[in-house]
Amino acid sequence: MRWDGQTIAADAAAVEAARSPGRAGADAVPAPALLPLAGLQRSVRTPEFAGITFHEVHAKSLLNHVPATSAMPFAWTINPYRGCSHACVYCFARKTHTYLDLDAGPDFDSQLVVKVNAVEVLHAEVRRRSWARPHVALGTNTDPYQRAEGRYRLMPGIIRELAGSGTPFSILTKGTLLARDLPLLTAAATDVPVGVGISLAMVDPALQRRVEPGTPTPAARLDLIRRLGDAGLPCGVMAMPILPWLTDTDEALDTLFGALAAAGASGVTAGALHLRPGAREWWFSWLAAEHPQLVGRYRRLYGNGTYASKDYTTWLAGRLRYFRRRHGLGSSARFFRNEPESAVAAGADGDRRPHDAASASSALSAPEQPVLF
Ligand code: SF4
Repeated sequence: MRWDGQTIAADAAAVEAARSPGRAGADAVPAPALLPLAGLQRSVRTPEFAGITFHEVHAKSLLNHVPATSAMPFAWTINPYRGCSHACVYCFARKTHTYLDLDAGPDFDSQLVVKVNAVEVLHAEVRRRSWARPHVALGTNTDPYQRAEGRYRLMPGIIRELAGSGTPFSILTKGTLLARDLPLLTAAATDVPVGVGISLAMVDPALQRRVEPGTPTPAARLDLIRRLGDAGLPCGVMAMPILPWLTDTDEALDTLFGALAAAGASGVTAGALHLRPGAREWWFSWLAAEHPQLVGRYRRLYGNGTYASKDYTTWLAGRLRYFRRRHGLGSSARFFRNEPESAVAAGADGDRRPHDAASASSALSAPEQPVLF
C-alpha cells in the first residue's frame, strides 16, 4: 500500500483548519476519519460538492517516474488528484483506489485524495540540479481538471512551475475547467512545448450522461476544442473508448469525427474499450443494468481478457481509418508528447499506439499507472 500509518480525527484542529480564512474551502466541515493515508492533513466535505469527501494530503513528491520498461511515450507524470468525480464507468484508474483501502466503484468517484502541497513540492523538484527537464504528462491517471480543481486551483501553480523551469508538458482532460487556464497555457507555450489533448469519444449527450455522469457534456468539450484553437493551442483528441454496439456504428463514428473536425481538432486517436480488472466488473454491472441484451455479446467479444477480439479490433481500425480520412483528421499522438507529426510512427488506430496505456500497463507499477481518458 502506498499510503500507510496515519489517521485523522474530526478534532478541534481540523475544524480550525477547515475554517481558516484564505484556505481553499473555508466552508468545509470535517468528515469522519476514514483512511490510513500518509501525509493526511484533514478530510472534509463542503456543500458545493455534495456526496464528495476530500482527503487533503501533504505529498512527499509530485513527479512520478514511469518505469523504463514501459512503452509509454513519456517518462514522467504528475497526478495532483487520486479518484475522479468524472465517474466514467469504464475508467482504468478505478483499481488504483483499492490501494487506498477504498473501493473501485462509488469510492473512486467520491473519495478524492488531493495533494494540497503539490505546487510547493513541484517547485523544489524542478529546481534540483538532477532535473533534466524531460517531458511531463498530466492527466495520465486521473483528470487534473475534474471539478475538485475548481476548489483547489492546483493546476495554475503546476503550469507555472513546469514552464518556469523549462519543462515541456502535456495535459489530457475531459474537464472544461481547463478554459480557466487558457491564458496561462498560451503564455507557457511561448516558453516550452505544451501539448493539450481533450478526451471525447461520444457526442450523444444521453449516452454520455449514463457512461460518464460527472463529465462536461460533449457540446461543452467541443466548444473547448474550438476555444483552444482560437487561443492558438493546437488540440489533439483522444476518442477512447469506442464502445462496441453503443458508439461503433458508422453513423456514430461519422457524427463523432465530423464534430471533431468541425470544432477544429488537430488530430484524433481512437480505439476500442479495454476492460482491465477493476474497470471490468464495474462495466459489466453497468451494462447489465443499462443494456442487459448486450452482456452476452460483450462476454463473447472480450472473453476473460482485457481486449476485444482481434477480429473486432481489426474491423474497428478500418472504420476509424476511413472516418478519420473522410474528415481530414490526422493522428493526435504528437500532442501528448510534444513531437512533430513526422516523428509519430505510422500506424492504424486500433493497433497498438504510443499512448496506449492498456498495452503498456503490465510494465507499469501500481498505483500510478498511466491511464488514458
Ligand atoms: S476516465 Fe479519466 S475522466 Fe473518467 S473517471 Fe477516469 S480519470 Fe476521470
